[in-house]
Amino acid sequence: MAWHVPLSDLDYGPEEEAAVVRVLRSRWLSMGPEVQAFEEQFAKMQRAKHAFAVANATAGLHLAFLSLGLGPGDEVIQPALNFVAAANMTVAVGATPVFADILSLSEPTLDPKRVERLITRRTKAVVVMHYGGNLCRMASFVNLCKERGLALIEDACHAVGATYQDPEQRPPDGVMAGSIGDISAFSFFANKNLAAGEGGMVVTNRDDVADRIKLLRSHGMTTVTWDRHQGHAASYDVLANGYNYRLDELHAALGRVQLSKLAANNERRRELARLYWDQLRCLEAQGWILPFRERPKPDPKPRDASSACHLFILVAPDSERRRRSAETLKAAGVQTSLHYPCIPDFSTFAQHGGAELEISREFSGREISLPMFPAMTKAQVQDVCKVTLCGT
Ligand SMILES: *Cc1c(COP(=O)(O)O)cnc(C)c1O
Repeated sequence: MAWHVPLSDLDYGPEEEAAVVRVLRSRWLSMGPEVQAFEEQFAKMQRAKHAFAVANATAGLHLAFLSLGLGPGDEVIQPALNFVAAANMTVAVGATPVFADILSLSEPTLDPKRVERLITRRTKAVVVMHYGGNLCRMASFVNLCKERGLALIEDACHAVGATYQDPEQRPPDGVMAGSIGDISAFSFFANKNLAAGEGGMVVTNRDDVADRIKLLRSHGMTTVTWDRHQGHAASYDVLANGYNYRLDELHAALGRVQLSKLAANNERRRELARLYWDQLRCLEAQGWILPFRERPKPDPKPRDASSACHLFILVAPDSERRRRSAETLKAAGVQTSLHYPCIPDFSTFAQHGGAELEISREFSGREISLPMFPAMTKAQVQDVCKVTLCGT
């Protein structure tokens, strides 16, 4: 279907084309200078010690869980409202996902108090997800995990380039999403803020975790082909049962160009979000919720979360209004989506649905995602707002 306004669209141009040609002409296709430069530039942007490029964020989450030693008998508390990757990888390492609810319909990120109530002797880790590029209440999660001896993993797939103001830091400085917990994963899938088609990055400040990631990413081998090509190593040992989760040079080169555009593109997304909020004020009187419009309440001290605005979302007054609005928008050529169905409502996770998840379930029934991408024009935002909803 040719949408009048698609849900998302690439910001690709001559720079991306040139990057691909550069790699093809270099005659080196995987884990070479492009990957190395991408990792270095990403780590610098994150102000983090280590960044490892991986095949995708799902592989990155798998490596994160393995490097933290999660396995059978361990419980991993995580949002029920998330893409299914973290839950699938929890099961992949033999651990048990325990799903927790969100704070509210207007701040649909994991609730630290509900997470605390779900901690048992078996709990080993907490996964947070910065929904739509809006940071979770990280001060609370950092304190909770420190107190209870739990690992903290950030699923930062929506939040590349987003920042969190840590009031304790002197001078106050924007801490990057994905550099706060023990380890984090980013995705460069085609519809993400930094889009390379496929690809991901794992970020950590812990040296022990970094060593494991590096090893497990490439079969547990002590050297990679590039080292041997460079004459740095002739042979190798295999120290652990690893995987092939490497990234190739083409995707790394695309990622580097996209990284150079990231700050401007995220700023553009914030500008479009403000325009949406202005135009859609009328909806609040009709029982709609405009999540993340208000700055979240202090956590526990003032913070300034600078969102990556990966998504622009609304919560309808009820699921019937949500359904009707999606149909109206579709008829006008506007693509919408749902982020996300509640994970324990999927067949394979049905046995994990025990905890209280009323807010997540309510949210899943009423949430609608509207088009949001940096190349979107203000006229397109106005078009969407005209069909949306004031009046329907
Ligand atoms: C996209 C996404 C993933 C998975 O990323 P892949 O790179 O496709 O594996 C995981 N979590 C969230 C929140 C995502 O949006």
